[in-house]
Amino acid sequence: MIPVAAHIELDLSALQHNVHRVREYAPKSQLMAVIKANAYGHGLLRVANHLKGEVDAVAVARLDEAMCLRGAHIQGRILVLQGFSQANEIPVLQKYQLEVVIHSVEQVAILESLNKQGSLRVWLKIDTGMNRLGINPAKFVEILSRLQQCKLVHPSIGFMTHFANADDEQDEKTMRQLQLFNDTIGAYSGEKSSANSAGLMSWPASRQDWVRPGLMLYGVSPLLAKTAAQLNLLPVMSLYSRIIAIKQVKKGQAVGYGGSWLAEKDALIAVVSIGYGDGYPRHAKQGTPAIINNQRVPLIGRVSMDMLTLDLSGTRHIKLGDKVKLWGEGLPVEEIAAYAETIPYTLLCGITQRVQVYEKG
Ligand SMILES: *Cc1c(COP(=O)(O)O)cnc(C)c1O
Repeated sequence: MIPVAAHIELDLSALQHNVHRVREYAPKSQLMAVIKANAYGHGLLRVANHLKGEVDAVAVARLDEAMCLRGAHIQGRILVLQGFSQANEIPVLQKYQLEVVIHSVEQVAILESLNKQGSLRVWLKIDTGMNRLGINPAKFVEILSRLQQCKLVHPSIGFMTHFANADDEQDEKTMRQLQLFNDTIGAYSGEKSSANSAGLMSWPASRQDWVRPGLMLYGVSPLLAKTAAQLNLLPVMSLYSRIIAIKQVKKGQAVGYGGSWLAEKDALIAVVSIGYGDGYPRHAKQGTPAIINNQRVPLIGRVSMDMLTLDLSGTRHIKLGDKVKLWGEGLPVEEIAAYAETIPYTLLCGITQRVQVYEKG
C-alpha cells in the first residue's frame, strides 16, 4: 500500500452492526436504508452492495442516483425520495423499476396526462408540518383517489411523511406530526412510513410498516442529547491524514492565514496534510481535537485548503509522518461538527473526491 495522506477508512462491519441496531429498535418494520448523497459520503455503490440482502429497500434523493444503482446491477426496491418533476422522467422510472414519492398535485397531473398503462409504485407523501415536500392533508382523499384511477400506478400505494424535529426527544411536534399523519390516512389501507433515524430511535409509535434510517446506519447519533456510544452505534467512517512538517514557533509568532493564532509561549506545532479541500470544515474552531498516537491534540490557526496545524505542546513521542485521526472511532464526527458549528451530516457528505478510500479489515 502506497502511504497516503488524507484518506478515509470504512469499517463495513460497523455498517452491519448498525443495521442490526435498526432491526432491534424496529423488529416489526421493514427497513429502507437511506443512501442518498453518495451514502452520506461513504460511497453509494459500496454501501448499496454491502447492504444487499440486509435491508428491504434503499432510498436515494434523485433519479440519477437511482440510475447509477441500476447501472451497477443493484437489484431490489429503490425509492426516489424527490420523485419526478417532468413527464419525461416517467419512462426512465418504469424502465429501471424505480419507486417514487408523489408529493404534489402537479405530479399527479403529469401521471394523468400520460394516460398510459403501467405498474409504477408510488408513495404518497403528506406534509404534516415540515413544510417542505408533501401534499396538504386536506387534499389527501382527493389526490389519493386520482392516483388510484391512474392506470400507470401500481394499486398498492404507500403513505409517508417526514419529521422536522425528531432529533429532540423533548419536542412534542413529532407526535403531533405522527398524529396528523395517522388521522389523515384514517382507514385507507396502504403501508405507512414516517421515521428517520431519530424518529425510530426515540419515538416508538413512529416505527410503523417501514422505517427510513440514514444517519444511524453510518454510526452517528441522530439525537441531540445522546452520543453514538450511548446508543450503541459504531462509526463507519474514520478520517485520517499525516504530519508533513513539525516546527518550533517562538512566543508571539502567528500561525496560518490571518494570523488568528499567536503562540503565548514557545511552541511545537504539527502541519497535517488535510484541509477544506478534503472536506475538513474550514470553520472548525481553535481547540478542535485531533488524535495522534492516542493523544488528543488541539487545532490551532485557520484551516487552509490542503493543510491544518495542531499544537503539539505537552504531547509525547509525536514525529514526522505520524498518522492523525480527524474523526471516527474514539473521536465522534458529532464532536467535530459541534466545534465547527455544523451538523455531522454536512461533514460526512462533504468528503471530497481526492480523499482516498480504504475498506478496513
Ligand atoms: C434523508 C431522509 C431520511 C433519513 O434521515 P436520517 O436523519 O439520516 O435518518 C429519511 N427520510 C427522508 C424523506 C429523507 O429525506
